[in-house]
Parts: sequence; C-alpha cells; structure tokens
Amino acid sequence: MPAPITPKHREVAQRAREARGGWVLAAVYPSADSGQSAARRIPRAERMPAYHPPGTYEAYDARHDDGTAVWVRYTAGLPKPAPRPPAATYRVCDRGTSRSYEGVRIVAVTVSPDCPRCGGPRGSAVPYRFHEDGEWYVVDKWKNGCGHTDMYDGVLTEARELAQIAAEAAFTLGEEAAEAGEFSQAVTLLRALERKQRFLTARRSALLLAVAGHNEAARRVEEERTSTSGRMSARDADQFLVGLAAARASCTDCDDGLINYRARDGEFVSLRCRRCRRDVVPHA
Ligand SMILES: [Zn+2]
Ligand SMILES: [Zn+2]
Repeated sequence: MPAPITPKHREVAQRAREARGGWVLAAVYPSADSGQSAARRIPRAERMPAYHPPGTYEAYDARHDDGTAVWVRYTAGLPKPAPRPPAATYRVCDRGTSRSYEGVRIVAVTVSPDCPRCGGPRGSAVPYRFHEDGEWYVVDKWKNGCGHTDMYDGVLTEARELAQIAAEAAFTLGEEAAEAGEFSQAVTLLRALERKQRFLTARRSALLLAVAGHNEAARRVEEERTSTSGRMSARDADQFLVGLAAARASCTDCDDGLINYRARDGEFVSLRCRRCRRDVVPHA
C-alpha cells in the first residue's frame, strides 16, 4: 500500500490565487478514481474547504507519470478564461525515420493539449523561422509551463497514433450515418469510436473529434464538459451534440450566434446566444 497522501490544498489554493488564471498542479493521486473525485469536488468546494466558495476554482484530472494529476486554476474576479482546448496543433519538423539525411518536411500535428508526463497544459505555439538547404521554413516552438520538454519525435508519434484511432473508427462507419444536423459526421464518428473503445471519456472524445477535423464539435463538447465539471461520457457527448444541432437549427433568437440589441444609451450590444453556443467575439 502506498502511503496515504495528504495534498496540501490550502497551499495549492493560495498558489492558484497568486497565479491568477494559470494552472497549478494540486496533487498526484495513486488511483485514477481519487484523482477524478478530487477534480470534481474542487470546483464545488465539496469536502474541500480550501477552495471555498464554490465556483471560484476549476480543476481537471490527467494522466501523470506517477498516477493521476489534478490541476487547478483560480478564476474568480477574472475575465472568464477560455475553456481548455480539446486539442493542440503544432507545426513540427518531420525528418523521416531513416538514418540518412532525407531533408525536412513540415507537418501540422494535432495532439493532446496536456503534457504526456504530468498532464499540465502544453504551451502555446510560437512561430519560428529557420533556414536549411537554401530554403526558409516555419515551425512552431512551445514551452510547457510544467517544465517538461516535448520532442518533435514524441509529438509525431502521438499524432500518428491518434490519427490512426480516428481513421480506424471512420473506416468501420459503413453506411450508418447519424442524424444530427450539422454535427452528423462528428456524431457518426463518436458512435464508431464508442463501439471500439469502452469507457471512452468526453475529454478523449473531444480530442479525437479534433484530430478528425471536427473542431467545432470538439470545442463544444469540451466547453460543455468543463461547465458541468464532471462526468461526461462519449455517449453524453453524442447526445449533447444531437441536442445542440437541433437547438441551432430551430433558433430564431439570434443572428449567427449573436443576439444584437440596442441598449438604453443607444449603443448596440451583441451577446452570445446561449442556445447556439457559437464562438463569437462579443463587440459591445
Ligand atoms: Zn509536464
Ligand atoms: Zn441562437
């Protein structure tokens, strides 16, 4: 039996407040169940007094070299931070696998947004220009806040594995297309993935949707998963997308996701339509 861990939640809550919206590693649990349970209880401050009052912290669990990590961020009093992305896309160098020099190819890879070692958020892409063999190339560099460095070979392998899972599911689809309006293709893929992988989580579903190019569906699933802070399976994600497609098709409240009105002072104001949940940049 590993020694019982006593995560220092008071200290973590304090560090997260100081990091103002930045993710902080709260604890690493030996079992996935306890990690998931902590990640669900932190936003509700349920048996977690350090995170009082409810709704001031967000949390997620992710795989860590030593178990299941729980990451926390403080969001109270800040502009609402963007939900965690369902996937990360980077341009990287692919130099092939043979020992001899084959030159360089730039490929865009879609991978998990979490560091594979500790589950911390991967860094944002920063374009980097370099010169080789008389040509200029642009790739992305990124620095993970956790300090772990991603190697190009590692992300290339991860991207290939994910792409293969999505491709194999797409291959078994056959003729059974789901009826889900604009999300029909995404939902069809989700159902094929569910059939192949038991216990597929919504988080993993969102990643695989992004890998298959269904970015809008992936973002909406991730947003919904975050706002319900908890248990959402691939099946729930599937039903959520069916409902969202129907809501969008029948919505008469908004103009392409925006509800525009004129405020009392004469200014025009646009608000995001909560039924349609499109990505919009509100301009007030
Ligand atoms: Zn890391
Ligand atoms: Zn609408």
